[in-house]
Amino acid sequence: MKESVKKILAVALIAALAFAMVACGGDNTADGGDIPTYTAVTEATFPPFDTVDENGNIIGFDMDLMNAIAEDQGFKVEYVDMEFDSLIPAVEAGNADIITAGMNADDPERQAKVDFSNTYYDSALVVVVKNDNEDITSIDDLTPDMKVASQIGTTGADQVDELFANGKIAESVILNGFDTCMLQLINGDIAAVIIDKPVAQAYMNKQPDKVKMVGEPLNAESYGFAVQKGNSELLEKINTGLQNMIDNGTYDALVEEWFN
Ligand code: GLN
Repeated sequence: MKESVKKILAVALIAALAFAMVACGGDNTADGGDIPTYTAVTEATFPPFDTVDENGNIIGFDMDLMNAIAEDQGFKVEYVDMEFDSLIPAVEAGNADIITAGMNADDPERQAKVDFSNTYYDSALVVVVKNDNEDITSIDDLTPDMKVASQIGTTGADQVDELFANGKIAESVILNGFDTCMLQLINGDIAAVIIDKPVAQAYMNKQPDKVKMVGEPLNAESYGFAVQKGNSELLEKINTGLQNMIDNGTYDALVEEWFN
């Protein structure tokens, strides 16, 4: 082979290698580091949005959706379980990057502390009572001798606290997990629980004939993912990825998998 041809081939080979390295750049950020891994926090007693499997892994609709968004947008996510009222402080303090917790974004107090993504699930609060309870058919049937429960830091807890403040119930019982609320309800320790409808529905599907929803939904909620105030770069990725998952059918497939 002529020297000049060898040289051209060598240059072409280097160019091809350089191109290949750039093309594989999905695994690298612009500065050549690993793909970013973000910490997402959740409260994992809230199936089908957030729960744990038999090995203690945090799983749910929120995780599958966020993982799909992350794959689409070139980042990874690690999940950490904590109490619901610690989620916003964790992101505010920079100890976590994302909240994936079936969190209502339609809440000015929360909006002042974190930035929310576009809505990924429409929800509502409902009153849940024991299956054999014939006395409570709506929120209006709660009386000043009754204890009513919800989960700490949630919009349901706000409603229960308000009922108590207005003298409508005997006690506002604020518990750590949704599962504990349901156990106390079934044990007869409390008269009612105010909780999110899709979670109550999933509970009823899994454990039929234990509890029931009564009356009309108390409100309308829009679940969003949250990031630290001003982190528009990450928020943009989440919103773009979410829209892509809606457009390509992944979102509907996950709804089918977790809710139907
Ligand atoms: N809808 C509630 C809220 O955003 C509950 C969320 C939850 O318990 N994970 O406050």
